[in-house]
Amino acid sequence: FDQLDGFIWMNGEFVKWADAKIHVLTHGLHYASAVFEGERAYGGEIFKLKEHTRRLHDSAKVLGFTIPYSEEVINDACRQLLRKQGFSDAYVRPIAWRGSEMMGVSAQSNKINCAIAIWQWPSYFDPEQKLKGIRLDMAEYRRPDPRTAPSKAKAAGLYMICTLSKHAAEAKGYADALMLDWRGHVAEATGANVFFVRDGALHTPTPDCFLDGITRQTVIELAKRRGLAVNERVIMPEELSSFSECFLTGTAAEVTPVAEIGQYRFTPGEISLQLMKDYTAEVTPKASVIAAE
Ligand code: PMP
Repeated sequence: FDQLDGFIWMNGEFVKWADAKIHVLTHGLHYASAVFEGERAYGGEIFKLKEHTRRLHDSAKVLGFTIPYSEEVINDACRQLLRKQGFSDAYVRPIAWRGSEMMGVSAQSNKINCAIAIWQWPSYFDPEQKLKGIRLDMAEYRRPDPRTAPSKAKAAGLYMICTLSKHAAEAKGYADALMLDWRGHVAEATGANVFFVRDGALHTPTPDCFLDGITRQTVIELAKRRGLAVNERVIMPEELSSFSECFLTGTAAEVTPVAEIGQYRFTPGEISLQLMKDYTAEVTPKASVIAAE
């Protein structure tokens, strides 16, 4: 990934992709003092760019640092980089981290760095598998109590248990894993939120210890526009047998139907497929819809 063509925006400048390097004594690498975002561009426009950039700034605040570039500067940099890379559909990854000026747990005077990379990432899950519904394992690790970790931030450190869980699932042939929270309630997948369907209504866990995803919020809005009831509530793993459909939501995953979670089975049905279509329509810039007609 470090040898792609094009440019990376790094601390206010566009640098050649292969030259966007940092020192091995970077605090963010040793102590996970880093926050990031995941965004997608469709038809040349980054979907909900402002919301993502705001969340990047907010995540940094949760980790006790301020990104030295305003939200406007980052928004402009993302848009310029997308054009410079020449993509209309792409994945956008801004990241901010503490640098290498001090070494140790304390990093009070370390420089705060910020970079943005954009690359093509058409599908997070295998496209063929996606339509049939992906298979999830039950993760061993649980989402931590908000008193144990800053669970509202999109912070690099929180992804340690996600990578461990995703690797364990992949080793058993699954696409991803469903994580419970520290109380044993259903929480989310390793990089996406989860929804269930029962009797025509949506059920999704209350995001009190994991990311309230921007895609999650968008899909709730789309479901309400269709007149569907949306229940945000505690969901116990034993309840999984009572749901007919299940899907994941996330910027990378978009809306991905789930066919299997451990011993439970679901059929990608009318509601999942409708919301997949509604999501595609929502993220497509209106001008390209007109141009395609
Ligand atoms: N949970 C986790 C752990 C994630 O990494 C993501 C992806 N950012 C999500 C949920 C979904 O968030 P969003 O819809 O904002 O991409």
